[in-house]
Amino acid sequence: MILTSENYYMQEANREYLSVSQYKDFCGTLGKPPCEELALAKLNGEWEEEMTTPLLIGSYVDSHFEGTLDLFRAQHPEIYTKQGSLKTDYKKADEIINRIEKDELFMKYMSGKKQVIMTADMFGVPWKIKMDSYIEDICIVDLKVMKSLRESHYVRDYGLMDFIRYWGYDIQAAVYQKIVEINTGKQLPFYIAAASKEKETDIEIIQIPQEWMDDRLMEVQKNVPKIVALKNGEICPIRCEVCDYCKRSKVLTGAIWPDNLLGEI
Ligand SMILES: [Zn+2]
Repeated sequence: MILTSENYYMQEANREYLSVSQYKDFCGTLGKPPCEELALAKLNGEWEEEMTTPLLIGSYVDSHFEGTLDLFRAQHPEIYTKQGSLKTDYKKADEIINRIEKDELFMKYMSGKKQVIMTADMFGVPWKIKMDSYIEDICIVDLKVMKSLRESHYVRDYGLMDFIRYWGYDIQAAVYQKIVEINTGKQLPFYIAAASKEKETDIEIIQIPQEWMDDRLMEVQKNVPKIVALKNGEICPIRCEVCDYCKRSKVLTGAIWPDNLLGEI
C-alpha cells in the first residue's frame, strides 16, 4: 500500500510495514522491557495504546510546527475545559511553542519539510518512517517534548542513562538515517530538537553520535528475523508480565518470590 498521512498509523499499514514504535514494542528499550504479545495484540487490533496527556501534548506541538494546529484542536475537544478554554497542560504546550520560536537555532532545525513519510526495504522487510523536520541533503530532525532533558534514569547493569537512550531515541535515529540513505544515497546526521515541560522550559538541539546509530542498527538487523517470524505467526510471542496489556490478560499460576517483583529494569 502507498502510505499517506491519513493511513500511516492504520492497522493495515502497521501489518505491512515495520516501524520504530513497533520495533520498540517487540524488542524494548533500556527503559521499557519488550513485550512480543503486546506488539502482536496491537497489530491484531486487540489492544490500543492509550492516548495519554504527554502523548497528546507531543502531537499538539508537532501539529503546530506542521501548520495543522487548528485542525488538531478541532479533532481533540478533550484539550478544552467545559468553559471552552484550553486546559492547563495545553496552555503549557503553547508556552513551550513560544519559547521554541524565540530561538533562532532551534527554528533553523525545525525549518525542514514536516511529517515526511518514507518507506524502504531494510534487512529484508519494508519499513516506514515519518520525519518531523527533514532538511533535504542536510539533516533529519525529530522534535521531542520531555518532562526534563537532564533527568537521568537508572538502568540495571548500565547505570545512569540520558533520556535519549532510555527511551530508544537512538534506535529511531539509526533507522531513520538508514531509511533516508536507502532512498537518497545520503547518510545524514540526526538531531533531537528537545524542549522540556518544566516550569521554565529548557531547550536543546542534540546530535546523536554516529557510533550509537551504527551499534543500534546492527542490533536492529539481528532482531528483524525474529520480528518477521512473530508477525507471520511462526513462533510464539513472549509476555513481559509488566505492561498494561499483560496486567489485564494475566492469569496467576502460582506464588512468586519477592525478588521476582523487581524485574529487569
Ligand atoms: Zn506485556
